[in-house]
Amino acid sequence: MTKKIVILPGDGIGPEIVMQAVMVLHEIGDKFNHGFIISEQLIGDVSLETVGCSLPDKTIEKCKESDAVLLGAVGGDPNVNKWKDHPEGDRPEKGLLKIRKELNLYSNLRPAILYPQLKDASPLKSEIIGNNLDVMIVRELISGIYFGKKNRTVNEADDEESFATDELFYSKKEIRRILKNGFEIAQKRNKNVVVVDKANVLETSKLWREVTAEVAKDFPDVTYSHMYVDNAAMQLVVNPKQFDVIVTTNMFGDILSDEASMITGSIGMLPSASLGDTKLGLYEPSHGSAPDIAGKDIANPIATILSVAMMFRYSFDLEKEARAIENAVGKVLEEGYRTKDIYTDGDTLVGTAKMGELICERIENNE
Ligand code: NAD
Repeated sequence: MTKKIVILPGDGIGPEIVMQAVMVLHEIGDKFNHGFIISEQLIGDVSLETVGCSLPDKTIEKCKESDAVLLGAVGGDPNVNKWKDHPEGDRPEKGLLKIRKELNLYSNLRPAILYPQLKDASPLKSEIIGNNLDVMIVRELISGIYFGKKNRTVNEADDEESFATDELFYSKKEIRRILKNGFEIAQKRNKNVVVVDKANVLETSKLWREVTAEVAKDFPDVTYSHMYVDNAAMQLVVNPKQFDVIVTTNMFGDILSDEASMITGSIGMLPSASLGDTKLGLYEPSHGSAPDIAGKDIANPIATILSVAMMFRYSFDLEKEARAIENAVGKVLEEGYRTKDIYTDGDTLVGTAKMGELICERIENNE
């Protein structure tokens, strides 16, 4: 099998972690006899620096022609507003929002999996997390408040007349397709969906509840319930094992998935997949560009490497290859190798490149 993959290393630690993930791709290619045509394209801060915009047309074109896209991260130091004077108001993050929209990737899968080997790296007590944790957060990705109409009204003389608004919009079509996706995923897991909203105050949440009842009729084997987002934030740390699949809006999913990531030890462990109606998907770690540790060979590449495993599973339907990567990660952790973010006393501390190399060495084709 030969697949066309676009890599978008982006900014900060992006290039370092994507390099390790590409080595894993080549290792899978060698061991399972697959070919990959890899094309590297621009996005984010580095793209603004190079060609003056965060997402060049060429990147969009190449991504649309590909079978899958692997992204590192975009964005610079959050404390420095480097592009505030850009003539079209472009910023690195706009490139990411735009590519998701261009590829119509409305469903963002963020599995929060705690490897038993990393129990000590979780901030939660072992009686709360047990021996493992496996929650799938399905986040709506290309609508909601991040994409609604924005307005800023300025009146220098009157603070009350100076205000900003962000519109929260969801159509039934947008809600239905993400819920359907969440229920389908639950069917292949423990068959339980929790739809997270704020239906006590938001009209959009009330619509989510109505559409959930409609969609659920097609999935009689899946049980479901609703939970307010404030309670969900609490339940994730009090009793995370109650969750199988969480389906929620763009903003709630953004926040809850970061919270869930810390339960698993480090945000450096969490992969993600963004999918639409076709097999073309965008795969990226859940974390950002981590400018504070960029270029130091200390970033954890595992989230990006596990994103490649998701690419094999969801875009290529190659489950054996996906599991070969996940098993290799498990073995490296079992042997006690850790990057700095997941290190505890007694472990063997390794850098980004060494972690990638160790995982590649443990990839096996057992069939
Ligand atoms: P961040 O996720 O980049 O970093 C948060 C903290 O986690 C930092 O201390 C960082 O060092 C650490 N961290 C992140 N990834 C790590 C890894 N792989 N290994 C070890 N430690 C890791 O979030 P932030 O600091 O809020 O944002 C930094 C930049 O990233 C901003 O410009 C932001 O807009 C951007 N961002 C991009 C994405 C994306 O590309 N999908 C997502 C979130 C933030």
